[in-house]
Amino acid sequence: MLDIIFLGTGGSMPTEGRNLPAIAIRYLGWIFLFDCGEDIQRQIEKAGLGLNKNMAIFITHMHADHILGLPGLLLRFSLLGRGRPLNIYGPREIIEYVKVNQATINLGTTFETVVHAIGPGIVFQEGPITIRAFEVDHRGPAFGYEILFQNPTGEFMPEKAEDLGVPKGPLWSLLAKGNQVSLEDGRIIQPENVTGPRPRSLKIVYSGDTRPCQLLRSASQDADILISEAMYTAEHTDLAEERGHSTAEAIAKIASEVGVRLLILTHYSPRYYDGEAILNEGRAHFPNTILARDLLTVTLDKDGSHTIIQPGTAQTAGDPA
Ligand SMILES: [Zn+2]
Ligand SMILES: [Zn+2]
Repeated sequence: MLDIIFLGTGGSMPTEGRNLPAIAIRYLGWIFLFDCGEDIQRQIEKAGLGLNKNMAIFITHMHADHILGLPGLLLRFSLLGRGRPLNIYGPREIIEYVKVNQATINLGTTFETVVHAIGPGIVFQEGPITIRAFEVDHRGPAFGYEILFQNPTGEFMPEKAEDLGVPKGPLWSLLAKGNQVSLEDGRIIQPENVTGPRPRSLKIVYSGDTRPCQLLRSASQDADILISEAMYTAEHTDLAEERGHSTAEAIAKIASEVGVRLLILTHYSPRYYDGEAILNEGRAHFPNTILARDLLTVTLDKDGSHTIIQPGTAQTAGDPA
C-alpha cells in the first residue's frame, strides 16, 4: 500500500555505500521526501522515483547533512522539465536557504516552488494523509514528523447505494469520501450505510536528529513504524547527550515502551561502519528492530503488515501486528 524507501542512511558524513539522510514515502501517486542529503539526486534515480509526481519535501532541521541535496534536486527537476508545483516545509531558515540558492547559483525553477516555515502541529493534509511536525531536542530548531494515513470511510459498495436508491453520480462520490447526503425524498444517507468496514489508520514517525525526548515518545505511541536516528551505541551516551543525538539503546527502549511495531534505525555514525553494533544493541532492547541501509524499501500494507526488501535480495514478509 505504501513504500518507504531509504535514499540515504548516513550520519554527519557520507561513507562508501551510505549517503546522507533522505527518506521517500510513496503513496497514492504522491512522493513525500524527508530530508535531502547530499547525493539525493542519484539515489532518487536508483530508486526509480519519478520526478514529475505530486511531491512535498519535509526538512527536519538546518544541519548541512540534511539539506545540501536540496538545491541540486531543484535544479534536476527544472532540467527535466517538472511542471507540477513543489511545496517544501521546514524550520523558518529554510526560506532564506532556498532564496539564497535561487539568487546566487541561478537556480530558477520551471515550476512553482512554495517554501513553508513550520511550527509544531499539522503541516500537511491531503485526503487520507496528515503530516504533523513536533519539536525534538537537538541543537537549534529541529522537528520530527508524524505521518498518518486514515481513510475517512471503508470501501464504497455500489450495490448498497443502489439498494438504498441513491442515484449514481455525484452523491456516490460524496458518500465514498465520507460525507452524508440528502435524497430528494428527504431521506438522509450516512456513508456507513454504503461502505465496508473502515480500515485502521497507519502511523509512521520520523525522528529527525534528536536526543531521546518526551515529544518523540508521545508521537511514537502505537506507531506502525518508528524511523529513528541512532547515532551511537550506549557506550557513547555522553557524546549523544553532548551533540544532541540518541543511542540505539535509548531509542529501542522507547519503542518497546510505547507499543511501536517496527523500529528502523538510521543516521548512525560512520564509526560503526556496517552498523551491526547499532542493530545488535537495538535488538537487545526491542527485537523488532532493523537497520536502514541505502535503497532498503519497507512496504506497509493496510492491515499493518510490513515487507522488508533489502536492496538486491528477496522479500521478507513481516507479521501483521
Ligand atoms: Zn544529522
Ligand atoms: Zn543535526
